[in-house]
Amino acid sequence: MMDRNDMQLSRRGILAAALVAGAAGVAAPAMAAKTKPAGAKGASFLLRGVTLETGYRREGSEVVGTETAKASVLVRGGKIAAILPADAPAPMGVAVRDAKGMLLLPSFRDMHIHLDKTFYGGPWVPPRKRTEDIRGQIKLEQTLLPQLLPTLEERAGKLVDLLQSNGTTFARSQCNVDPVVGTKHVELLKHALDGRADGFGHEIVAFPQHGFVSADLIPTMRAAMAAGATHVGGIDPTALDGGMEKSVDAMMQVALDMDKGVDIHLHEPGASGIAAIRRIADTVERERSLSGKVTLSHAFSMMSISEGEMAELAARLASLDVSVASTLPFGTRMMPIPILLDKGVKVYTGTDSVEDHWSVFGSGDVLEKAKLACQLYGWSDEYGISQSLKIATGGPTPLDAAGKQVWPKAGDAADMVLVPASCSAETVARQTPRKAVFHAGNLVAGVLDAA
Ligand SMILES: [Zn+2]
Repeated sequence: MMDRNDMQLSRRGILAAALVAGAAGVAAPAMAAKTKPAGAKGASFLLRGVTLETGYRREGSEVVGTETAKASVLVRGGKIAAILPADAPAPMGVAVRDAKGMLLLPSFRDMHIHLDKTFYGGPWVPPRKRTEDIRGQIKLEQTLLPQLLPTLEERAGKLVDLLQSNGTTFARSQCNVDPVVGTKHVELLKHALDGRADGFGHEIVAFPQHGFVSADLIPTMRAAMAAGATHVGGIDPTALDGGMEKSVDAMMQVALDMDKGVDIHLHEPGASGIAAIRRIADTVERERSLSGKVTLSHAFSMMSISEGEMAELAARLASLDVSVASTLPFGTRMMPIPILLDKGVKVYTGTDSVEDHWSVFGSGDVLEKAKLACQLYGWSDEYGISQSLKIATGGPTPLDAAGKQVWPKAGDAADMVLVPASCSAETVARQTPRKAVFHAGNLVAGVLDAA
C-alpha cells in the first residue's frame, strides 16, 4: 500500500503548486490573448428530402435490414430545430435545400490526431527508415519542428479541409508542448482553429511529446493551458517520463488545478501501462470533478491482460466515465474494444499521424476506422456494421442498440453529413462518399442544391 500522503492530490497542494508555477512566470501568450474565438454562427434552412433511419427490420431476433423514411429537417441557429414531414412547407423566409433523398447521419469526430505536426498540405517528405527508438524521433523533432513552425497554420488548415471532406467536423488535436517549441504550437494551432470555428469544432491537448516531468515541463504545461489548450496531455510515465507516480500525478494535478481535461498517450505495454491506468482511475475516483474529462489514448497495455481483468478494469473506467481513444491497431493482438463497449466505456477513434515523421498512413477518414473495427471484431451483419458507425461519430448513431430512433432530435447540433446510401451499414461497408457536410448548420464540404 502506498503512503496516503504520497497518493493524495489535495486541493491545497494543487493551489500551492499553481502559485509556484505562477511565480515562475506563466503568462498567457500574446497571440492567444489577442485572438477571440469566432464562435460558431449557425445557419437556418429547411433541408428537404432527407432519408432518416427509423428502426431495424427483424426476422425473429435477427436484424435483417434497416427501415428508413423521408423527412425534412429544419435547421435554425446552427441546431436541428424540428423534424418535419417530407412535404412540410418551409416556414416564411427560410431557404430550402434539396437533399435529393440522401441519408442524413451525424457528422464524424476525429478524437486523436496531430494537426500541428503534419506534412500534409506541403511537399511530400520521403519517409526515412527508423533506426532509433522514440528518443531518436524526439531528437529529430528538435530540429524539424522549428523548421515547420512558419507553415503550421497552413498545413493544419489543409488537413482540416481533408477531414471536413471526409465528413469530420470536430477534432481533438494533440499538440506538441516541449522544450523546443514551448507553447508556440498551441498558440498557432488555436489561432488556426479559432479562425474556423464556424465550420469546425475542436479541442486541443497539450502533448508533452519529449517528456513531462523529465523534461521539466510543468510550468510550460500550465502556460499551454492558459493559452487555450483544453486537455493536459501525458506520455508513457514509466517508459519515457522516468517515474509512473510523479508523472501521472503531475498531469492530473495540472488538470485539476486549471479545470481542464486529461488525454494521455499511453503506448507502454504490460504491467507499467496498467499501473498508470489504475493510478489515473484512483485519482478520478478521489477527484470526481475529473469524471467525464479523462481519456486514455492508445492504452496498448489493455492488450496484455486477461479477459476477466479487462472486464473488471473496463467496468471501473465506465463507472468513472474515463474514455479510451484507439486508432484500432492490428497485429498479433487486438485492443479489447468489444469489452470496453460492452461495459459502457466511451470509445473514440482518430487518425493520429496523417503524414508526418511518425507515420504516413493516417488517412484523415474515421469512417475507415469503423469499417476496420467491423473486420477486426467480427461485426459483420447488418446490425453490427450499422452500430459501428459510433466509432466514426464518437458516439451518436441514428438508431440505438435496441433499434430505436435517437438521432436526429430537435435540439441536436446541426453537425451532420449527407451520403448517397440507404442506411448506416451501407455507408460503413461501402465507405460511401460524403456529399454534403455541415457543422452548426453551415455547409463546410461538398455541395447541395437550393430547392
Ligand atoms: Zn498520437
